[in-house]
Amino acid sequence: MSNQPPFEFGQTVYLVEASPNHQVGRPCPVCFGKLSVTIILGNGEQQPIECEMCEAGYLGPRGIVSVGEVSSSVIQATITGLEMEGDDWRISSNIRSYRQNERRFFAEKESAEQRRIELHSEAEDQAQKNFESRFRQGKKHSWSVGYHRNQIRDLERQLGWHREKLTHKKAVK
Ligand SMILES: [Zn+2]
Repeated sequence: MSNQPPFEFGQTVYLVEASPNHQVGRPCPVCFGKLSVTIILGNGEQQPIECEMCEAGYLGPRGIVSVGEVSSSVIQATITGLEMEGDDWRISSNIRSYRQNERRFFAEKESAEQRRIELHSEAEDQAQKNFESRFRQGKKHSWSVGYHRNQIRDLERQLGWHREKLTHKKAVK
């Protein structure tokens, strides 16, 4: 059993932080700034439509998307608290606290730097996943094309029906 505290109170340690926190603007990967894309339908017909990837609510497409940028660092910290939490240590410092199994505190700077690289690439993977999950909403495009076309067809049918009513009356009576 190693229930020995990993650090001592007041010990100077190296704290590793990494997070996908900064949002950065990038050219839209769907419309490339053109603000619209063209859908090729099954019959080969081409249908332009507003880009939904970079749209910002009622402002419409912007040609730019926000991407999470990862930042990571190794910070010098002082241990201020150590307590058992279940079968893990909760390590507190003057900056932040983590559980030991999160591997955020290190006695040596080299180990902290290695861990930073690891956490940095994990955070980048996460940022990429977040981005791709939004990118996959590109499926919405074909749904929108279908929706708008349906609406047009409906309105045209109604228009035709109203026109017919008027001309029909004239012709009959
Ligand atoms: Zn776009």
